[in-house]
This record gives sequence, C-alpha cells and structure tokens, in this order.
Amino acid sequence: MSKLVNPHGGKSLKVLLLEGEKKAEAQKKAGGLKKVPMTSRETSDLIMMGIGAFTPLDGFMGHDDWKGCCENYSMPSMGGLFWPIPITLSATKDLAGSIKKGEEVTLWDTETDSPMGTMKVSEKYAIDREYECKQVFRTADREHPGVRKVMEQPEVNLAGPVKVFSESYYPEMFKGIYQRPAEARAVFEERGWTTVAALQLRNPMHGSHAYLAWIAIEVCDGVYIHQLVGKLKEGDIPADVRVRAIDALVTKYFRKERVVQGGYPMEMRYAGPREALLHAVFRQNYGCSHLIVGRDHAGVGEYYGPFDAQKIFHEIPRDALELKPLPLDWTFYCYECRSMASMKTCPHDSKAVIDENGQYKGGARLLLSGTLLRKLMSEGKPVPKEFSAPEVIAILKEYYDSVEKKVEIKLHKFATGDGK
Ligand SMILES: [Zn+2]
Repeated sequence: MSKLVNPHGGKSLKVLLLEGEKKAEAQKKAGGLKKVPMTSRETSDLIMMGIGAFTPLDGFMGHDDWKGCCENYSMPSMGGLFWPIPITLSATKDLAGSIKKGEEVTLWDTETDSPMGTMKVSEKYAIDREYECKQVFRTADREHPGVRKVMEQPEVNLAGPVKVFSESYYPEMFKGIYQRPAEARAVFEERGWTTVAALQLRNPMHGSHAYLAWIAIEVCDGVYIHQLVGKLKEGDIPADVRVRAIDALVTKYFRKERVVQGGYPMEMRYAGPREALLHAVFRQNYGCSHLIVGRDHAGVGEYYGPFDAQKIFHEIPRDALELKPLPLDWTFYCYECRSMASMKTCPHDSKAVIDENGQYKGGARLLLSGTLLRKLMSEGKPVPKEFSAPEVIAILKEYYDSVEKKVEIKLHKFATGDGK
C-alpha cells in the first residue's frame, strides 16, 4: 500500500493517454475526423489530462463545471469536487456550428501542427470571457498575460471526454526531467517517503529557493523540485537553462537521497492565488503532501498581494485537498544575521547595498534586483556569493551572452529584408 497522499478525488490516477494498439487505432481514426485547433494552453492542459496530472478530469469541461469552477471552485458533474480553474477548449463559431453533438473530433496542436488526441463532443456553449477573467485572474485587464489569452479565445467552448495519444515534444526535449505523476509516485515510494513537499519553479533556483527546499526537507521526507517546462511569457528564462542550473545546485548543495527533480508541461496562466490552488491539485496527483507557497506564487506584475496565494488556502473548504500548503515568507541572505533568513525571522530592516562592481557596501538584507543581477553578469562582474551559487551564475551568464547574440542576428535579418 502506498503511504503517499491519494490522487485528487479518489484512489487512483485517471490517465487518458493511450498506449500500444489502442493508441495506433485512435491515431488512425483521427486522420478522418474534423480538426479542432488548440491554443498552446489548451494543448498543455490536454497533456496534463493525458498523463493523469489533472485527475480526475476526463475531458474538457462543460458549461456547469466551467461556471462552478469560476464561482466557487467546484464541479457539479463530479459531485461538487474542488477544482480552482476552468479547463476548457475553445473553437470559432463556424467550426463549432459544423460539429454535431456526439461527433468525435481531432484535437490539433497548432504549434507542432500535429494531432494530439480526440474528443467526443458532448456540449457546445458560449461563455462570458470577462466574467471568467474577473473570477480566475481577479482582473479583466488585457495587459495581464493570462487574461489576454482568455479574451483572445474564439467564442464557443467545446466539451467532452478526450483520448490522448501524444505528449508532444516534452518527453524527448526534456528527457530525464519530464515526468508523469505515476513515475514520480514510483520514485517517492521506492525511497519510502510518506511526506513530500513540492517546490514550484519557473525561474532559476537561487539561494533563497535552495533555502526553501532545505526547510521543506527538514519537515518532510523529501523535496520534489518541480519545474515548469511548458510555455512561459517572453523574457522568462527557458526551461533547459533552468534545468542545468538546478542540476548544478542539487549536485553540490543537497543530499541526493532527499531530492527528486521533475518537470511538468503546463503553461503558466499567471493567475496568482487561483493558480497556486491548481498547482496544489496536480502536485497532489504527483504524490506530494505539501506545496511550498512563497511570496507572489504564480503571480505577475502587481496584480496580486505578495501573500494572496497563501491566504487563498484558508478560503477554500478544509477538505478540498489532501495536500497542505507550506506557506513560507520572503527569504534572503542577511549580512547581520549572517545566514539565510526571512521577513518572519530577521529583525534587520535595512537593505544590503551592492555597488555596480558587485561589491558589498553595508546593510543587512540581500535583495538583488533582476536588473542589477543581469547587469553584473553581462559585464562579467561578481555576483555576491550569498545570492546565488557560482555554478548557477556561470550557467545564467552563458545564457544571457547567447541571447544577446541572437538579438544581433534578428537585427541583421531585418536589415537584409528577411525578417518579415
Ligand atoms: Zn537579519
């Protein structure tokens, strides 16, 4: 018997990904069906359903579940089971009009121009997109990257049970990192773990993240460094660079038997508190008993208070999830405490001053801005060792150098007229 937490809503994972003969059959059949193009977010949600990360969903949501999720985090079709963000598929009016109820369609990934699965359409419905945004994102401001995606969706939602036969390029491109929930659970079980804390990462792992992971290891059997390999917004550091930086950090500063690394294919919505809840749902499916929720979890810009994502766990029903949040305050290195610390522990209010040459000039809390970090790296100046391990800095520097080169190439293309 597994000692890990149960998957959400039941005792077993709901895996919709077909294998072997069934997969070949479905793929063959898909060739003759109407194509429904998916946005990158919809594709990533489909893969999450395929691998069982969105257990117990069996397809894209119908109107009642869409409304229930928006209104009070629940799915009427599943007896009111907790779910924090609608998982829906959109289609243009024309396309939706041409599809009959009960018809099977092919779910088409526009990014890779390939079929991902099929869906038996059980329902077609229009939604109030602005309402969804206000409920899920707490704003309908189109400057918000998650809101923009929803507002740009075509008018009609299609719902129905899905069959999945592709995980796109993730298993290949992120070999060794990309992990399905059943695989993660098997690793945790092999290690005899009962409690596992998930550390959500979409940025490079600096000293403060390492500190969070160490705290989690102190109170749980192990930590699951779980990073997003799905789509980010422009300007974020790509997954392969983050993977290498985490590898470097874990190799040198962690006990290997206490850490597992994995990647998941979901696209960021930047929904802050609501997204923290979605992160909690699928981490439970991955076998995690805890989710580290730090400052501004899954947020963007100034849309959410720094600890809204922690507060929201008190606003949902107590029995909504088996997983519990591990709320941690803003962490940093403090030159006065002479150690890693947090806003909750450190009594020194002053901010450490780091000059343009990366030298420490006085003050307590080391809160390095991204801009200064990047400036120091691009000029080859030292980054305070208390902020990030030298191995991580080296990898990031290499990445930023390559980005600058790519920008030059782009400019050149436009100069020659090839860059349209
Ligand atoms: Zn201090």
